[in-house]
Amino acid sequence: METQKIPIFFDFDDTIANTAKFKLVYWQSLSRALGIDFDTVKESYQRLREREKNGFSGPVSHMKELGISEDEIPKALVELKNLITAESSDLIFPEIKFLLESPEFRNRYDPRLITVGEPDFQRLKVEGSGVLQFFKHSPIYVGPTDTKADAIKEVIDSGDRFYLIDDKEYEGAAMVDRYGDRAIPIIIPKDEREKFSSLIQQKLGITIEIPGEERLKVV
Ligand SMILES: [Mg+2]
Repeated sequence: METQKIPIFFDFDDTIANTAKFKLVYWQSLSRALGIDFDTVKESYQRLREREKNGFSGPVSHMKELGISEDEIPKALVELKNLITAESSDLIFPEIKFLLESPEFRNRYDPRLITVGEPDFQRLKVEGSGVLQFFKHSPIYVGPTDTKADAIKEVIDSGDRFYLIDDKEYEGAAMVDRYGDRAIPIIIPKDEREKFSSLIQQKLGITIEIPGEERLKVV
């Protein structure tokens, strides 16, 4: 009998993917897809973001804001996603790729992707990043007014332990509040990525060797 793999939820923004870089790639790609200059695209993004109560509402409303007509939008969306995907190797943190590809990790853990935000925009990011090849389950898209703790209750069996890898302390705390010691958060703030390998080693018992990270081997 196969031993039960332990579920691990991976946050997307600033955990799997470099969100600041993504934003830049998004503006560049949209600018190219529509033939509209970069600054106009960026400024309209910021304007939309300030206007919308729940944050940026996604590429469709962004295109409308830029004056693109309804019937041009589907083609532009495909073009946009292709342009983003072409840059995807830069968007996913390399240490995340190493972890998700590690046979040791795959034998013991069952990774799932969970992300909060306007689903249209999150979908574009997740699909465009190329990270889905590492997940056999569909991503869990959590709306901007919902919580991760609520969203996972359908997919974890009662009693199971599970992990959450996230860049935000409060996301880990919310899981522990809700699920007690079944929830094991691994928090790696975005400005402390250098802790990634040692935290993963400590908490999951998985060694990831990242080329060029020789400094981690100095004991
Ligand atoms: Mg995050």
